[in-house]
Amino acid sequence: MPFSSVHPVEYIRRWQDDYTRFRRDLHAHPELGFEEHRTAQRISERLTALGIEHHTGIGKTGIVAVIRGQATSPHSIGLRADMDALSMQEEGDRAHASTVPGRMHGCGHDGHATMLLACAHYLQETRRFAGTVYLIFQPAEEGRGGGKAMLADGLFERFPAERLFALHNWPGLPVGKVAVHPGPVMAACDRIVIDIEGCGGHGAHPHLTVDPVLVAGHIITAVQSIVARNISPLDHAVVSLCGVQAGNMDAMNVIPRTAHLVGTVRTFLPETRHWIEARLRELVTAIAAGFGAKVKLRYEQVDPATCNDAQQARFAARVAAQLFGEENVIHDLEPSMGAEDFSFMLQKKPGAYLRLGQSNGEGDEQGGRFLHNSRYDFNDAIIPYGAGLLAGLVEAGLPLIEKR
Ligand SMILES: [Zn+2]
Ligand SMILES: [Zn+2]
Repeated sequence: MPFSSVHPVEYIRRWQDDYTRFRRDLHAHPELGFEEHRTAQRISERLTALGIEHHTGIGKTGIVAVIRGQATSPHSIGLRADMDALSMQEEGDRAHASTVPGRMHGCGHDGHATMLLACAHYLQETRRFAGTVYLIFQPAEEGRGGGKAMLADGLFERFPAERLFALHNWPGLPVGKVAVHPGPVMAACDRIVIDIEGCGGHGAHPHLTVDPVLVAGHIITAVQSIVARNISPLDHAVVSLCGVQAGNMDAMNVIPRTAHLVGTVRTFLPETRHWIEARLRELVTAIAAGFGAKVKLRYEQVDPATCNDAQQARFAARVAAQLFGEENVIHDLEPSMGAEDFSFMLQKKPGAYLRLGQSNGEGDEQGGRFLHNSRYDFNDAIIPYGAGLLAGLVEAGLPLIEKR
C-alpha cells in the first residue's frame, strides 16, 4: 500500500486553516478569464515561498509549476486546476463574499486552484515519487478558451506530461466521495445564433409584412423535435434556445424587421453533434423559406466532450479507493451535460477528470447549492481531500520503487 507511512489527506489537513484563508481571499477577489492577474500573483508568491520552480504567463495568465521527485525517471504527470470566476452577482452575507460587483467564484475554481497549490506544497515537502509533476493553473475555463490558449502557448511542448488529471468539486455528492468512470463525463458545448430577417411594418396590416417574430416562434418549437425525433432515445443531447430578441416592448403595433435567437447544443458523441448541426440548418432554412423570410444560422463549437481514458480512469478510481475507501468511490455517476475545457487537453493526452463531493448534507447552505447558483460557495473542508487525491495520483502513478 503506497499510503501506509504518510497519508496525503491527513498530512495536508494540518494546513487546513492556512489554505482556507488563501481560498477565501481568492473568493473575495474574483477575476474573469484571462484577467486572473491578482489570482496568478497570489499563487506565484506562494510557489516562490515554497521554492517551487514555476513559469507564468502561459496562456496569458496561466502558470505551470514543476516539481521533481526524489528519484529521477522519464515519466511525468500533469495536474490541472482552473482559477477563473463568473460574470454573476453573489448573494448572501458571508464574510468572504465577493468584493467585486457582478463577479463571483460561483463554480469553485478558487477552491480548485487552492487544492492544486496545497498539493504542490505537499509534493515539494515530501517528494515521494520518481519523475516529474507539472502543476497546471489554467485561466479562463468558463467558456473563454483558457485550455486552448495554454495549448497554443506550447503547454505540452514545454511541459510534456505523459498523462493528465483534473477534478471538479461536486455539490451533488457528499464530502469524502469521489466519482470517476471511463468514457464521457462532461458534454460537448456549442453555441447557436439564429438571425431571422423579414420585412417590418404595421401590426394592423400584417399581410404587408414578413413577420420574423412568427418565424422565430415556429423555429423555437420545431428545434425541439431534433432531440425528440432525430436522436436515438439511448443517446443524450440537449438543444436549448435560451435567448429571444425581437421588436420593441414599447411598440405594440410595429412588426419588426428582424428577430434573433441564441442557444446551446450539448452532446457526447461527435456524430450526434454533427447530425444536430445538420438538422438545425435544414429546419431553420426550410421554416424561414416557408414564411418568405431569410435566415442565418451561426453554429460555433465551443468545447469538445470531456472523455476519460479507460485505463487512466480505472487507475484514478484505484487511487481514490486506497485513499478514501472503496465505499466512497462512485463508478457510475451519470455524466453532466455541462461542459469543461479540460477536454482540449484530454484530446492531446490520456487522463481523467474526477468529481469530488463537497456537500455536508441535503440542501446545506455551504456545499449543497449547485454550481453557478448565486449563493453557492466552495466547501473548504474538502481542500485536504482534493489536494491529497491529486498528490495520491502522483505517488501511485510515479512510484519511487518499481512494482514487481
Ligand atoms: Zn462553471
Ligand atoms: Zn467549474
